[in-house]
Amino acid sequence: MYDYLVVGAGLYGAVFAREATKKGKKVLVIDKRNHIAGNVHCEEIEGINVHKYGAHIFHTNNKEVWNYVNKFAEFNRFTNSPVANYKGELYSLPFNMYTFNKMWGVTTPKEAAEKIEEQKKAAGITEPKNLEEQAISLVGTDIYEKLIKGYTQKQWGRACTELPSFIIKRLPVRLTFDNNYFNALYQGIPMGGYTKMVENMLEGIEVRLGEDYLEKKAEYDGMADKVIYTGAIDAYFDYQLGTLEYRSVRFETEVLDMPNFQGNAAVNYTDAETPYTRIIEHKWFEFGTQEKTVISKEYSSEWKKGDEPYYPVNDEKNGNLYAQYKELADKEDKVIFGGRLGEYKYYDMDAVIASALDMCKKELV
Ligand code: UDP
Repeated sequence: MYDYLVVGAGLYGAVFAREATKKGKKVLVIDKRNHIAGNVHCEEIEGINVHKYGAHIFHTNNKEVWNYVNKFAEFNRFTNSPVANYKGELYSLPFNMYTFNKMWGVTTPKEAAEKIEEQKKAAGITEPKNLEEQAISLVGTDIYEKLIKGYTQKQWGRACTELPSFIIKRLPVRLTFDNNYFNALYQGIPMGGYTKMVENMLEGIEVRLGEDYLEKKAEYDGMADKVIYTGAIDAYFDYQLGTLEYRSVRFETEVLDMPNFQGNAAVNYTDAETPYTRIIEHKWFEFGTQEKTVISKEYSSEWKKGDEPYYPVNDEKNGNLYAQYKELADKEDKVIFGGRLGEYKYYDMDAVIASALDMCKKELV
């Protein structure tokens, strides 16, 4: 008999398991995959930590979270500065003075601001109602057309006019020569990889892999006083109210017999025609000096049952359906739902950890 059964060995589950164990609780962690660390899981290929479920760059403004993760890993000084490739033209990301200079030839912040304002005016946008209008009002029509429109439609499989504006607000816009993608005080990659970091979180805790909770739910529920469920909330309720939409991602990973393929960890292909959204060259997350390199092309697709869900589609329709599932979830007094899938929320890693720590404060008194 356990105090807590944690379903899912990703960040949310691992943080909860660690904190509960610290408080003397008996915890069992299960995961249906055959590895820990959820979607931050890394696998070593040719001496390079390959981010198997897509690039993860740890960044946060939350000092408590930063101190917390540093207990389990040492972080390197990696700073995310992706490059956008639009039909062979290269631009700096996020949108900054280098981007504006390349796009328009402007050299001062004043000229760049005027150019954006002029394009925003011409588009007649006062109050942005969707991602397209939000993007144009932030960076103007040219940047929207070349660096946002195609990429976003590929990533989300929906027109920019159908998407909520908060998605694009994740990206900073700066009138400075600063290529750092994130507005974060702290940033880096755990040395030795994310799997090692999660392994350290789970040290001394019983973990069973390849165990599908929903297949043997009654049996598992009988094993613990409470359940922390970090899987998809609609799957938990057997999709009884309908399926929430997710975007899934597929990776084509190749080992190349060369030390340097693209000179950067991430290159985004922002046109609509290239079938993948970006290419990740994993060694650059850790300043690799290996003779070979490993790259992953990332293809985005609509999720269907059996696929791995990655991104919740936080639009109005899905928001309403989630609210109904949340009502059901609140009635399950033995179960706590958490994490990107359990709360159907486009969480970054630091926010997931903050939310798990918050829950611990309430739950583990
Ligand atoms: N985005 C874009 N062009 C880019 C990179 C991002 O238009 O080159 C937009 C796109 O809509 C994307 C959003 O910004 O969904 C958020 O990007 P982010 O890099 O935060 O997404 P993630 O890394 O979580 O996939």
